Amino acid sequence: MIDAQTKVQAAHRKRNAYLYIRQSTPRQVLEHQESTQRQYGLRQQALRLGWSEEQIVVIDTDLGQSGASAADRAGFQQLVTEVSLGRAGLVLGLEVSRLARNCSDWHRLLEICAFTGTLILDEDGLYDPAHFNDRLLLGLKGTMSEAELHLLRARLAGGALNKAKRGELQVYLPIGLAYDAVGRVVLDPDEQVRQSVQLVFATFQRTGPAFAVLREFRRQSWLFPRHQRSGPDHEQVVWKQLSYPLVTKILHNPRYAGAFVYGRTTARKSADGKRGAVRRLPVEQWPVLIKDAHPGYLSWEQYEANLARLRENTARPSTTDRRSAPREGPALLQGLIMCGICGQRMHPRYTARSQHLWPYYLCPRQDLDGGRLSCQHISGKAIDDAVGELLLTSVSPLALEGALTVQDEIRRRLEEADRLRQAQVERARYEASLSQRRYMKVDPSNRLVANTLETEWNTKLRLLAEAEQEYQRQRQSDHLVLNDAQNQQILALATNFRQVWQNPALPHRERKRMVRLLIEDVTVIKRDSITLHVRFRGGAIQSLTIPAPLDAWHRRRTSDSIVEEIDQLLDDHTCTEIAAILNSKGLQTGTGMPFTADVVDRLIHGRKLRSRQTRLRQMGYLTLPEAAVALGISTSEVCRRRSEGSLTGLLYGVNKYLYEPHLPRPCNNLTEGVAV
Ligand SMILES: [Zn+2]
Repeated sequence: MIDAQTKVQAAHRKRNAYLYIRQSTPRQVLEHQESTQRQYGLRQQALRLGWSEEQIVVIDTDLGQSGASAADRAGFQQLVTEVSLGRAGLVLGLEVSRLARNCSDWHRLLEICAFTGTLILDEDGLYDPAHFNDRLLLGLKGTMSEAELHLLRARLAGGALNKAKRGELQVYLPIGLAYDAVGRVVLDPDEQVRQSVQLVFATFQRTGPAFAVLREFRRQSWLFPRHQRSGPDHEQVVWKQLSYPLVTKILHNPRYAGAFVYGRTTARKSADGKRGAVRRLPVEQWPVLIKDAHPGYLSWEQYEANLARLRENTARPSTTDRRSAPREGPALLQGLIMCGICGQRMHPRYTARSQHLWPYYLCPRQDLDGGRLSCQHISGKAIDDAVGELLLTSVSPLALEGALTVQDEIRRRLEEADRLRQAQVERARYEASLSQRRYMKVDPSNRLVANTLETEWNTKLRLLAEAEQEYQRQRQSDHLVLNDAQNQQILALATNFRQVWQNPALPHRERKRMVRLLIEDVTVIKRDSITLHVRFRGGAIQSLTIPAPLDAWHRRRTSDSIVEEIDQLLDDHTCTEIAAILNSKGLQTGTGMPFTADVVDRLIHGRKLRSRQTRLRQMGYLTLPEAAVALGISTSEVCRRRSEGSLTGLLYGVNKYLYEPHLPRPCNNLTEGVAV
């Protein structure tokens, strides 16, 4: 302690001594009382070095906190604060280097101690961080401490990894898999559990997106088993509703494909030393992957195909270049149509027109460039019809096969559902009889127990009745789904693809699924006409050209033939007369209205026909002033003579709209020229 006595100065003793006490885990706090005692024992040393009892401050708020990072430890932070404010003359700790279990925290503390002239004391001795030798020693202690922690962790993780590499590490198994008596992984011995897991995979195969699996389970009121991980029913299987996260978890879990894996996720620490986000690693980066390690529910190839399908389905078409799952809308080529100008996948959009949704396809480049029509958007009806027609003409033998598969699949699906529900009823019946037996066995004089068991028996009986009712109800609705009439329809589908395809009752989604079976994608370019390049599955390409659909205003336009007729009639008739003639023939305007003089006049101007006035002028008719000049009289004289009748047959009033021979017109009217 000679060394110690020379290091401790009066200035140190004036300031407080801080005793920092820490145990990593609550368990250590409980079990390692002894080391806590040792930590308090350091206090005696401080007293011996000349500090008084009341100068010793104990910081023990971090008891039960892990030392791996300082961020969460209020006590350690308090210690650093006190030291940096120069209030500490001495810091005491058991193996001081464990004050901080990571080097940066430790070196920061050393630096502050050196700066404020604070001494450090542990069971090995007293150090002055301002002295080079002491500083070096303390630094080494810190490094060793961190290294020790590292080795400890590495040994633990390495042990697990080695075991994992041999496929021997026992981990929690997902529902549907279990360990047998000798620790081998087998399929769950409970048949109902196995069936439920199989059903998830089968439904996914059939319906596409993971969400559809969930919906199917809800619709059929199927429950799904889960391992209870805590609580009174620990390790029991409980039956609950399936959830979306669980569906994706099941589909992503390679253990169902019979593979043993280890290290599928990685956790990266954040800057403050806390545990960061858990990230799923791609298959190539899994440290351990042993295929065919144990029995499973699907092959590795199927598993990979499922993952690819999940990626395809969850992707939004705008952000990635993938096909999206068929949805409910009528746009037949949703997710399949590519812009032939810029190469992007086009989006379906809908406009509502008298209770119907009309699809159109939009190139997303339009959105990105500030809403300008930088690329193309195309009315979907004509394209959908053309592709539908193409399918009808080119794939009928395939359609036959498809239809038969559909029929089989529906039957299989219903049978499978029925089996599962039957199993649920069986289980309820078994539980009811179990309760009954328990009740029978109990001594009737033991009334409390008997009552409890009787209540339980009643509950089980009620559950059984409910399960049976539900079973019957579903069975009947299944029967509705697959009654004779529908069987006929399905058979008709086998023989008449066209009829089924054109059946308005066929959901859009089903029609789209059929399209997807046959078509890879459709590239479209709209110029004067629309060109479609249809790429079939397997690579065959067929090109189509269809006329561009009319714009809205185009469709409301009066037909060209009517306009031509007006053009001819204008030589001899006024607008009023023309309107009457057209109406008598039963013709209508583009908007479906009868013709009037106004409408005819608008058509004349709109379609740039020669007006009646122009035609009369070209035929030699004169205006009033011109007539006056030609006759050598004043304009009023012309009007007077005309109303008097002396110019009858020669003069006709014409204004912009009307041609009415019998009425005197104002002076600016056109006047039929006199033969001069
Ligand atoms: Zn485009």
